[in-house]
Amino acid sequence: MQSKFQQLKARLLEANDISSAAGLLYWDQSTYMPPGGAAARARQSATLRRLAHEKFTDPEIGRLLDSLQPYEKSLGYDSDDASLLRVARRGYERATKIPAKFMAEVTNHTSESYQVWTEARPANDFERVRPYLEKTLAYSRQAADFFPGYEHIADPLIESSDYGMKATDVRNVFAELRQELVPIVSAVTSQALADDSCLHQHFPEEKQLAFGLEVAQKFGYDLNRGRQDKTHHPFMTKFSLGDVRITTRTKENFLGDALFSTLHETGHALYEQGIRMDLEGTPLAGGTSSGVHESQSRLWENIVGRSRGFWEHFYPQLQAVFPEQLGSVPLDAFHRAINKVERSLIRTNADEVTYNLHVMLRFDFELALLEGNLEIRDLPDAWRERFEADFGIVPPDNKDGVLQDVHWYFGLIGGSFQGYTLGNILGAQFFSAAREAHPEIPSEIENGEFSTLHDWLRGNLYQHGSKYTAPEIVQRATGSPLSIEPYMAYLRTKYSELYDLGN
Ligand code: ZN
Repeated sequence: MQSKFQQLKARLLEANDISSAAGLLYWDQSTYMPPGGAAARARQSATLRRLAHEKFTDPEIGRLLDSLQPYEKSLGYDSDDASLLRVARRGYERATKIPAKFMAEVTNHTSESYQVWTEARPANDFERVRPYLEKTLAYSRQAADFFPGYEHIADPLIESSDYGMKATDVRNVFAELRQELVPIVSAVTSQALADDSCLHQHFPEEKQLAFGLEVAQKFGYDLNRGRQDKTHHPFMTKFSLGDVRITTRTKENFLGDALFSTLHETGHALYEQGIRMDLEGTPLAGGTSSGVHESQSRLWENIVGRSRGFWEHFYPQLQAVFPEQLGSVPLDAFHRAINKVERSLIRTNADEVTYNLHVMLRFDFELALLEGNLEIRDLPDAWRERFEADFGIVPPDNKDGVLQDVHWYFGLIGGSFQGYTLGNILGAQFFSAAREAHPEIPSEIENGEFSTLHDWLRGNLYQHGSKYTAPEIVQRATGSPLSIEPYMAYLRTKYSELYDLGN
């Protein structure tokens, strides 16, 4: 058995090495590659992805997994080996159910669709991408049908990023959240807008980058196993547990962009850096779901990084870096500015309070499209109507409406948005459990100390990688299933200090 297990691990490691190399090519492409490299790089990446897929779906892996079933059954659920086999089998079954030919077709189609979208969005031309989107929807339905027996057609798509959650689960959580959120959004947005002009001044890039990285390290980001580089759309990427990188972008006329996106990507990176080193190269050495991953970026960016306590400590330092810009701006005004709430058109710029309404709109449309209850050609009108109902404003064009997010134009429709809101909910739930275990966490944050919080997260969440599914790890770490209560309590406490919430 041991020799079969070692053979399986060796094969999985080989597939993982090729994927990591492809990841490194992508990082390079998004940071330093000169434009002339684009065509060859696209080909090289496709070659590596294909090789990794072939290695990972090799029938020999299936045979090894089958023959190791008695070994898995002889071990406890919590054993590393049993978990590795469980997670590897889940990945193998998923990867082999979708035919390689279909995958290749989809990849070709989405890269064409993406190209067209990059031109159609600035031109505000939905009609141009419409045929592509229609084809994407057809592919998305087909992809779901490779997993017969689902309850809802979106389930297989949701499970590919948030394993353990189904459309019904997400729909129920979102309905509950929506009911609680809408009155808060109305209360806050009916009041005077916070003045965030202090953030819109000239802030030299080098100083912004240095300050962000300084905070990232205080959070616990290890530069012996990480680094920060500039890019257009910030992301975190990992090539091994010893090399977990963040990327950022700066706007010299807006302080909020680089600072908070750095804290966000640092949260993702802390999760990956916190995985037990002995899981390196196995299918367990990665975050467990998009929702849990996002919970960590949101926890560090918002719950910690936009809190009053955090800035009690860091604001004097930020003022020292930018004395001309912030020297005469009081902490209160700065704190209000970074927590400005407004009805806005763009999801990625939205504040903590309104953000989830943007996600719910997209999630509901994904379900309706997959169910056949909404046609692609009706999407722009449906978007405008729903947006007006939810936000009280009408998007003036499709560019900042249905064309704004890359997701549907570069991938399948379904499963791509729910993780953001699940992350907001879970971030608060994990933080509240950590604070219950260690009531000193808020006062430590006021002193720029994060090790108790970081240690709790590492011990209860990070170290396990993807050994446990999202529902399992939430139960284990917080003692209860996913709940919106801690998140709503967090929002109410925080925003009643900034706005009159009416009670
Ligand atoms: Zn994120």
